[in-house]
Amino acid sequence: MVRNIDMGSGAMSRRRRTWWRWLTAIVTGLVVTAVAGVAVAFPSVAATTCPGCYGMKQVRPGLYLEPGLPAARERQVTEVVDAAGRRVADFYGGRRSSPDILACLTDTCYQKIGGGRERGIAVLNRAVMLSPNGIDPVIAAHEMSHVELHARLGSGAGPMPQWFDEGLAVVVSGDPRYLKPETAGNRCRVSTQEALPRTLDDWLRTAKADRDTYAKAACRVSRWLQANGGSRAVLELIEHLAGGGELPTSLAAASRSNTEIAAALTIEEGTVKTHVARILSKLGLRTRVHAVIYAYEHGLAPRGNRARTGRPVRSDGKIPARRRTRFSCTEPCSSRDGGPHVTA
Ligand SMILES: [Zn+2]
Repeated sequence: MVRNIDMGSGAMSRRRRTWWRWLTAIVTGLVVTAVAGVAVAFPSVAATTCPGCYGMKQVRPGLYLEPGLPAARERQVTEVVDAAGRRVADFYGGRRSSPDILACLTDTCYQKIGGGRERGIAVLNRAVMLSPNGIDPVIAAHEMSHVELHARLGSGAGPMPQWFDEGLAVVVSGDPRYLKPETAGNRCRVSTQEALPRTLDDWLRTAKADRDTYAKAACRVSRWLQANGGSRAVLELIEHLAGGGELPTSLAAASRSNTEIAAALTIEEGTVKTHVARILSKLGLRTRVHAVIYAYEHGLAPRGNRARTGRPVRSDGKIPARRRTRFSCTEPCSSRDGGPHVTA
C-alpha cells in the first residue's frame, strides 16, 4: 500500500516535472520569438536596447560607436556628441536626459542597427542614432532636444504638437538650414500662416512633400519664443503640461487645419474655409494666427477641448492613448521609419 502510494506520488512528480519542462520550453520559445520578432521588425529598438549585440563598441558609458574606427575618429565623434549635449544644456539650463548615443560612420553599420535614409533619429526617447551624415553637433543636438523635451514632459503630459517639437529641436540645435542666426532680428527663413502638422503621421507626410516644413515650424516656434520670453517660456510650458495643464490656445489653435476642423464639426472643408474667411473679414484680420491672437486678447479663446480623463480629444472624438508611440528624425525621414522609432 505504502509502496503503491510511493509509486503514485513518484509518477505524479514525474508528470509535474515533465509539465514544468514543457511550460518552460514554451515560455522560453515565446520570449525568444518575441525578442527575435522585435529585432527583425524594429531593429533600431533592438539595437538601442543592446548596442553590443549589434557589434557597436562602447567608448564610454552611453556612447557606442561603429567598431574599428581610428582613435582620432572616435575622439572626433565624441567631441561632436559633447558639443551637441552642450547646446541642449545651454537652452534648457541643464539636462535631465542622458540618451544612449549610437553613431555609425558607414552606411553598412547604420543599416545594421536599423537606420534608414535619415541623418539621425531619436528612438523611444531614450536613445539617439546618428548616421554617417549625422555626425554633426546640429543633427545630434536636434535629436537630443527631442529626448530632453519628452524626458521633461514625462508620461503625464498630453501630446505636444509635432510641429512645436520639431521646430523647437531646430531652434535648440541652431540649424542654419532652417533658421537664421540669433543675431538676425527675424530668424525665419520660411514663414506660413497655415496650420502646421500636429500629429506625427501628419508631420511625416507633410515633411516628405514639403521640404520647407522644418523651416516653417522653426519660424513659428522662434516667433513664439520671442513673444513669450525665450527659453524660459519653454520651461514654463513644460512645467505646465507636465503638471497636467492644457496646451495654450495660441499653440493648440494654430495647429488645427481646415480638414481637422471640418472633421470635428462634421462639415465640408469648403464650409470651414468660407467661415474662416468671413470671420477674418468681419474682424479686419488677415490670417487665422491673427485671429488666435485676437481671441486671446479679447478673452474669447475657449479652454482646451478635453475629455473627463483630462486628456485632449482628437478631431474624430476619440481619446488618444496617454503613451503614444512616436519617433522623431532629422530629414530626410522616410515613412518606413514611422513604426519602430517609438517613444513614450
Ligand atoms: Zn526632429
